[in-house]
Amino acid sequence: MNHKDKRRTVCVSSQVFCAVGCKFCATGANKFEKNLSCQEIIEQVLFVNRHLKHKEEIVTNIVFMGMGEPFLNFDEVIKAIQILKDEECLGIGARHITVSTSGIVPKIYAFTDLNLHTRLAISLHAPNDKLRSELMPLNKRYPLSELMKACDYYTQQTNKRISYEYVLNDEPEISAL
Ligand code: SF4
Repeated sequence: MNHKDKRRTVCVSSQVFCAVGCKFCATGANKFEKNLSCQEIIEQVLFVNRHLKHKEEIVTNIVFMGMGEPFLNFDEVIKAIQILKDEECLGIGARHITVSTSGIVPKIYAFTDLNLHTRLAISLHAPNDKLRSELMPLNKRYPLSELMKACDYYTQQTNKRISYEYVLNDEPEISAL
């Protein structure tokens, strides 16, 4: 993503397709194939960085918002973050890396406890459990009350804000809920 300022953001994938099956997501409509390795995740960023170098630009920001649920490939994603932050690699500042999750609650606690200083985004997409469970079946396992407790833990421990993602839908049957 090219921003008006010098920020250049790469949206990376952590899996090939996804087992979470959110109703609004083309990735989730396909059968989960595999977790990407740490190397495969990093290569996505290096590929774009090589391309940008021709224009004398570099990757400045990374968002884990591509294909897959990053917290279902936790270890490889964390390894990739640690390497991408390292000055020997790209030295991307922790505050410029965002991990977006559909709400894998135990991993939100684990991610918080690692104290990586990276940012967290939550795919929220609904104001109540009824609609969220319809749109995101994962909500039946990790309902909003549990998700919000984990989010509170993250903000209290890290003193950082969370970004919430929300797809707006004007369909009458959804708006009426
Ligand atoms: S977790 Fe993300 S990638 Fe997976 S189905 Fe939901 S929106 Fe799509």
